[in-house]
Amino acid sequence: MRRILVIGAGAVGTCCALYLQRAGFAVSLVDRDAPGAGCSAGNSGGFGYASCVPAAVPGLRRRVPAMLFDRRSPVTVRWRDLPRTWRFLSGVLANARREVAEASADARHALQRHLFDAYAPLIEAAGAGHLVEREGLLLVYETDEGLAASRYGLDMRRRRGIAVETMSGDEARELEPALSPSIRHAVMLPQVGHTTDPLLLVRTLAEHFVRGGGQLLRARVHGFEMTEDGPRAALSDGGRHEADQFVIAAGAWSASLAADLGVRVPLVAERGYNVELAGSKARFRRPINAPERHVVLTSMRSGLRVTGIAEFGSPDAAPDFRQARRILHHARSLAPAICDEEGVPWMGPRPSLPDSLPIIDRAPRHPNVLLAFGHDQVGLALAAITGKLVAELAQRRRPSVDLTPYRADRF
Ligand SMILES: Cc1cc2nc3c(=O)[nH]c(=O)nc-3n(C[C@H](O)[C@H](O)[C@H](O)COP(=O)(O)OP(=O)(O)OC[C@H]3O[C@@H](n4cnc5c(N)ncnc54)[C@H](O)[C@@H]3O)c2cc1C
Repeated sequence: MRRILVIGAGAVGTCCALYLQRAGFAVSLVDRDAPGAGCSAGNSGGFGYASCVPAAVPGLRRRVPAMLFDRRSPVTVRWRDLPRTWRFLSGVLANARREVAEASADARHALQRHLFDAYAPLIEAAGAGHLVEREGLLLVYETDEGLAASRYGLDMRRRRGIAVETMSGDEARELEPALSPSIRHAVMLPQVGHTTDPLLLVRTLAEHFVRGGGQLLRARVHGFEMTEDGPRAALSDGGRHEADQFVIAAGAWSASLAADLGVRVPLVAERGYNVELAGSKARFRRPINAPERHVVLTSMRSGLRVTGIAEFGSPDAAPDFRQARRILHHARSLAPAICDEEGVPWMGPRPSLPDSLPIIDRAPRHPNVLLAFGHDQVGLALAAITGKLVAELAQRRRPSVDLTPYRADRF
């Protein structure tokens, strides 16, 4: 069982490939595009102990009509994709209960508490330390009501031992002078880091994988060649790729590959947008998250990146760049020094499941297939720990985290 093919070279697949290589497997990593070019390219770059809060929390159902039918809402559904997203959306609504939300938060936290330890050896070995900073994450609020609406999520973090430091708008401006005078409250989450270039980080890790003897292939996988014992080869537009074990880590595109092997999961694309402003005068030491406006501002190597929007639909539908213009408008309210530049818009599909937990498991009917997808808003953060766990599964070792909450057959 020494030859492994990892399908998908995003943050998750690349970290799986590296951990499998470290475990002594002969690893091939196949992607139809360059490493990191999918959702992993354009995210906000944040990773740390901040993201245990799932999408479905108590009170969500009350907010749904405004979310879905207000044209300015940051949460939208592509109605023509409804047959594809329906199972996901109804699952999220069903999960908007305290006991489910708390269980999801526990399971998210169980992964995120290992994220720095899991990343450290990969980042060090690849020489990628200069792409990572540890300055925390600052949540900013313009109204008392906005802060009050965050209370449930902040307490959820505190109950799990995550550091949460509240401060005034003035104190926040001392830390980040580019913030607007309209900011009244802020919350620092100090146990958070960020990368200043998510795409380069994945590429640097992938180059290290190749230097270590890994094979990087450029091809689109469309199915598997089956035997009585399960798949023997992946079939692609580049030919046939034989292996003893397979890892499906194709992000938001994983559902059809998994379905070929009898695994049917309500995975959707939660399409997010960014705009990058190369000439912005506003710079920040750490990512700024404005929950009232649903946008994040991160100073990247290439300029100021503004991210936001959750548009549920197909990963392959054309982007609606009006969404990107909307988040830019919010960014200018939060940091007036942002330049007039239109910026370069981007869209990427977050791979999302109704309980805000990824699938990290063996395919139920095919023990030589491992599944590693569905990391929604935290795929960069959880990539390395996912890779470590996948390598433990491939070696048939006891996983260092209890994988019960991430099983494929839970839906
Ligand atoms: C606006 C925005 C902000 C975000 N901010 C953060 C953040 O601050 N922190 C964080 O942790 N996460 C964040 N995320 C989420 C994070 O980016 C994703 O969870 C993560 O990138 C998912 O990684 P992945 O490797 O699973 O998927 P991807 O990066 O999408 O990789 C999947 C790969 O599979 C390949 N592929 C697909 N189908 C096939 C096929 N059939 N054959 C071959 N190759 C195939 C694709 O080409 C792609 O390269 C954000 C996302 C968005 C959109």
